Amino acid sequence: MNDRYLEFTNSSLGKTIAGMIGLPMPPRLRRAKAAWAVQPLEGRHVLVGATTGATLGAPLLRAVAGAGAGLRIVSDHAGLAPLKSAAAASKVNLQGNPGAEAGEPRNHALLFDASGLSSPSQLRELYDFMQPLVRGIAGNGRVLVVSRAPESLGEVNAKTASTALRGFIRALGKEIGKNGTTANLLEVPDGADDALDAPLRFFLSEHSAFVTGQVLALRPPATGNVALPGSLEGKIALVTGAARGIGASIAQTLAREGAKVVGMDHPSAEGGLAETMAKIGGVGLAIDVTASDAASRIAAEVGRNFGGLDIVVHNAGITRDKMLRNMPPHFWDMVLNINLGAILKINEGLLKDGLNDGARMVCISSIGGIGGNAGQTNYASTKAGVIGYVDAMASTFAKRGGAINAVAPGFIETAMTAAMPFGPREVGRRLSSLSQGGLPQDIAEAVTFFASPAANAINGRTLRVCGQNFFGM
Ligand code: NAD
Repeated sequence: MNDRYLEFTNSSLGKTIAGMIGLPMPPRLRRAKAAWAVQPLEGRHVLVGATTGATLGAPLLRAVAGAGAGLRIVSDHAGLAPLKSAAAASKVNLQGNPGAEAGEPRNHALLFDASGLSSPSQLRELYDFMQPLVRGIAGNGRVLVVSRAPESLGEVNAKTASTALRGFIRALGKEIGKNGTTANLLEVPDGADDALDAPLRFFLSEHSAFVTGQVLALRPPATGNVALPGSLEGKIALVTGAARGIGASIAQTLAREGAKVVGMDHPSAEGGLAETMAKIGGVGLAIDVTASDAASRIAAEVGRNFGGLDIVVHNAGITRDKMLRNMPPHFWDMVLNINLGAILKINEGLLKDGLNDGARMVCISSIGGIGGNAGQTNYASTKAGVIGYVDAMASTFAKRGGAINAVAPGFIETAMTAAMPFGPREVGRRLSSLSQGGLPQDIAEAVTFFASPAANAINGRTLRVCGQNFFGM
């Protein structure tokens, strides 16, 4: 579906008119055009800062330099000492920040290591770093703050200060979205310092174009060092609801990274499924996710052809909206069964037979399950249930060397949202920090990141991919 308003305000006539009468001008987001590159930040400059006493400098600098970016610093900042010693230990070069007037490329990102925060008064170091620099970031830029996870901090002042960062990032996301720039927070517990490569590449690159204002908390990984994103070669992936929309895009993106995709959809969508699978050399399975034998049929089919599943994406979902007072029981039952019941039932079967060790699962939730929308008591219950489910199942998957996470889309341009009335559709699009809906690819990129063994420190989490939609806060 086309967002005609975005197209108009990005034309030269539209820009002039929108500027004259003060209309919002949604930025054109730069999205990844190809597979996870070996160096997704090549040619970019990342300006790094830190609090005094910061301890994550070495893995952060290594990750950013390894992704191809040039590292810059400002000379008069509090956290320079830990950064300089981290750079020396990691054998990476730090350059000065030339400033806009020098004609050098602008900074693509600001990366701040807040792991040394020990009290709220130290938040001033964050202000001192960000305040003068934030206006100089290039369009479609990135702000990423990395902190110690508040839950892992015993000391009251440190915990308070690290939690304050969540408010900072959510507010900053709303200020800087106008030119497509995003702001996110990565929380790192003890034991996860060596698992920063993949999250950093995701949050600093074009693979996360529609993710802003979010907090992602890592966990100590169940497995050791693993290859970086782009390593789905040889993996077998099942995607439900793969005939169209977000599911089709997830299937295409997993295939782009080298996975062999088994796409599943309702028998009524068999034609669309065959078309999508033909484009990516995938295999179609026309099975209703609510069929009582769905799990055993998947296991039999995959087992016969490929052995077992390394990746499962539970994406199939429907809406049947009505105010609760008018909601017929079959609307309730259908939505509950397809969006939630089927996930639990299929997994029960696949955990016994069908999943390979180390399998990674991603379930599609929704910001409707976080904020709730009138007319969606059924849908919101299922999507909130998914968030609880991935949390509850995290240790089961970790014991098998794998992980289970959820992605919660905001307003995404698909047939589902095209069917909305004009008013709510426009509100859904514009009331976000990026003033537009996302594309199926935005969800697919986050799913693909979670599906990678490189995301080995992410388990039981839900990431909103919603352009910081003001619903579901
Ligand atoms: P869509 O309607 O375009 O596609 C859903 C797919 O699921 C279809 O191919 C459909 O045939 C399939 N499906 C439905 N019932 C099935 C069943 N019983 N068995 C097998 N397959 C079945 O929807 P979409 O917009 O691509 O949404 C995909 C997922 O993302 C859903 O879980 C949805 O709730 C979620 N989501 C979408 C948005 C959005 O803005 N589009 C926002 C939040 C969450």
